[in-house]
Amino acid sequence: MSRILITGGAGFIGSHLCDRLLSQGNEVICIDNLFTGRRKNIEHNFPNHNFEFVRHDITAPYLAEVDEIYNLACPASPVHYQYNPIKTVKTSVMGAINMLGLAKRVKAKILQASTSEVYGDPNVHPQTEEYWGNVNTIGIRSCYDEGKRCAETLFMDYHRQNAVRIKIIRIFNTYGERMDPFDGRVVSNFIVQALKGEDITIFGNGLQTRSFQYVDDLIEGMTRMMGTNDSIIGPVNIGNPNEFTMLELATKVIDLTGSSSKLIFKDLPSDDPKQRQPNISKAYELLDQWQPTVQLEEGLIKTIKYFDSELKTMK
Ligand code: NAD
Ligand code: UDP
Repeated sequence: MSRILITGGAGFIGSHLCDRLLSQGNEVICIDNLFTGRRKNIEHNFPNHNFEFVRHDITAPYLAEVDEIYNLACPASPVHYQYNPIKTVKTSVMGAINMLGLAKRVKAKILQASTSEVYGDPNVHPQTEEYWGNVNTIGIRSCYDEGKRCAETLFMDYHRQNAVRIKIIRIFNTYGERMDPFDGRVVSNFIVQALKGEDITIFGNGLQTRSFQYVDDLIEGMTRMMGTNDSIIGPVNIGNPNEFTMLELATKVIDLTGSSSKLIFKDLPSDDPKQRQPNISKAYELLDQWQPTVQLEEGLIKTIKYFDSELKTMK
């Protein structure tokens, strides 16, 4: 049993991580400022005496005696991270400094939830960890991309300079239950629009690609990474290599919901990556043959069921 700190633990991914680590008998401290996270994602854990929720913003230091830290705090949908871009950079950079400082002080192992966005609009396809990326420093996505890149730099420098035990994973597009129905990401947008019979908004021509990973596969990869020995620091891609265009995703969502929604085309936001697909051979090799087990249709069916019941309770 370990005492584990999860930043961003009330968010979509963080709340699933809380559940997994509690189910293994660990003590979990979840810190979150509830910017995009929701109390309802974690409230089922409130009666568990191994669970503690602390409302805290990681741009300020936080002290606790812990064995492991998972650093997930950061808005992840373009709509949310562009809402207050300066705050997004502060969360990634000052948050990383504060959590790495804590890890150094209490000798905890620390994992960074980095992102495929560090590859920007990639010229190498599929993306391997060796690729340095193609990122605009001054665009509307830069607050997130460069914030996450700088966080990786800080992790590596705390490791080299202070021997902090670090792990970096680069997460590719992940979806599943407890996504915020209105956070603007493509999977939640398409499902909510289909369930409400509204037009499905395709940005650009819909031929851009993403590779969608179901949340349970990510949690498995993430916890395996934390469990590796100290010589394994990453970065390691964690994602599902099955790649789809946004038109294919829309068609699948319409089929699975039986919706009568029509497609409408809207402007493509600037710097929107044209393609994205992880090479996961490193994860397979280092994480005990980890690979995704839930494919898109199966994951979408579960996610549609969740959104359907969310929308009904909102009525
Ligand atoms: P999310 O928005 O649901 O979760 C982020 C959580 O961080 C929220 O609970 C939010 O309230 C909290 N938070 C934000 N700023 C904070 C701050 N300053 N202090 C404390 N808490 C703060 O998003 P998610 O999809 O669960 O993403 C979790 C992490 O995984 C993020 O770091 C994100 O960059 C990374 N990631 C996610 C994806 C994905 O597809 N979902 C892909 C790549 C990387
Ligand atoms: N997208 C879309 N319609 C929407 C929301 C997003 O066509 O209603 C597109 C978006 O332009 C991008 C892709 O879907 O090409 C994935 O967008 P998301 O915001 O989910 O993630 P990210 O761009 O960060 O991978």
